[in-house]
Amino acid sequence: MKSILALALCLITVVSTQAQTQLKPPTESVLDRFLRYVKIDTQSAEDQTTVPSTRKQLNLANLLAKEMNALGVQGVRVSEFGIVYGLVPGNLADNSKVPTVGLIAHMDTSPEVSGENVNAIIHKNYQGGDIVLPKDSSQVITVDKNPILKEMIGDDIITADGTTLLGSDDKAGCAEIMTLIDTLRQNPQIKHGNLAIAFTPDEEVSAGIEKFDVKAFGAQVAYTVDGETLGEISNETWSAKTATITFQGRNTHPGTAKGIMVNSLFAMADYISRFPHDMLPETTADRVGFVHPYTGAVEVEKSSLKILLRDFDLSGLDAKEKMLRDMVAQTQAKFPDVKVSIDIKENYKNMKEILKDYPELTDNALEASKRAGLKPFIKPIRGGTDGARLTFDGLPTPNLFTGGANFHGKLEFNSRRGLEKTTETLLNLVQIFAEKAK
Ligand SMILES: [Zn+2]
Repeated sequence: MKSILALALCLITVVSTQAQTQLKPPTESVLDRFLRYVKIDTQSAEDQTTVPSTRKQLNLANLLAKEMNALGVQGVRVSEFGIVYGLVPGNLADNSKVPTVGLIAHMDTSPEVSGENVNAIIHKNYQGGDIVLPKDSSQVITVDKNPILKEMIGDDIITADGTTLLGSDDKAGCAEIMTLIDTLRQNPQIKHGNLAIAFTPDEEVSAGIEKFDVKAFGAQVAYTVDGETLGEISNETWSAKTATITFQGRNTHPGTAKGIMVNSLFAMADYISRFPHDMLPETTADRVGFVHPYTGAVEVEKSSLKILLRDFDLSGLDAKEKMLRDMVAQTQAKFPDVKVSIDIKENYKNMKEILKDYPELTDNALEASKRAGLKPFIKPIRGGTDGARLTFDGLPTPNLFTGGANFHGKLEFNSRRGLEKTTETLLNLVQIFAEKAK
């Protein structure tokens, strides 16, 4: 009975996705892969001198390399930094007519929440309402805070048990790319060019990508598969700078300080009081940038303040820089005995500055999502990505969704449909590149 039902469901799925009518299923479902990967603790750590920052990330790296070999991926290797590379050769008459497309996911999970002993729970056939996580009833995924749940009725939602994160960020990306490879191997009739595959460590601590060998990877364009909601495509990040303001005063023994001491703290307080309240992280969203005084040091003799500047537009970033410099002049005028100086460093630039010259990358991702029955949308990332770094290293790399939500926390979730639709989108994407062969 069970198998008849399964067969019927299978047929419905096949009939409903016209383009996939003739497809043989992968040898293992994306869900089963995902459940295997999340069991492996790959939490990365801040402030380490080595990459990977934690040796345990290599457990997943070695497993993925083994599975890639079993799926016929060529040139599989784990680099000294724990980056897994491999190539899925194209099956076109002339693979050089289409770009080698890179697909990248990261293996590590956030240092913020434990990823040890992840116990994934499948909430089958979700029928609406809040989801209380079984091992800690204070951990509740509410419809109020997660309106996307309203679109997930009937789906199988995957969560952790309330004691750990799930690790969908980014083991979903790993499972989806691996299932793409599996599906392509089962269906040689699907035409595609060369695909360069990489799984990276230490994304969460911004260290892994610095060891990425763009040249050896061999892709002309790439996608990170590391976003959230189904259909969410990102080709924009912040442009980012950091300012350091220094307030130089003069210290002396407080008992004999009259007319001598110049306390730098008061100048710093004056400077901080000048920040406009509508331009802070806590008061901005979407495409609006901010200035964020986030750390500093105070001593009578010398105080300093560090400030993040973030904006999607370089002109907006310049305006924020000018504002901080004007504030320096104002504080300096009010405290002539304190020497106030400003130093500004660039951190990274909006990848759109380069991706605007590669509109086909976004267009193909939009088309691939539509063919999977999704409603794709473009969402700028209020942060940086590994893709932004790669883009400026010469490998244009926008970011694709994974189906996940609530990254870096115990309320993280994904779903069967999220995993399957992302895999289907990747399958469409590699075909779209092949269709556009010159
Ligand atoms: Zn991620």
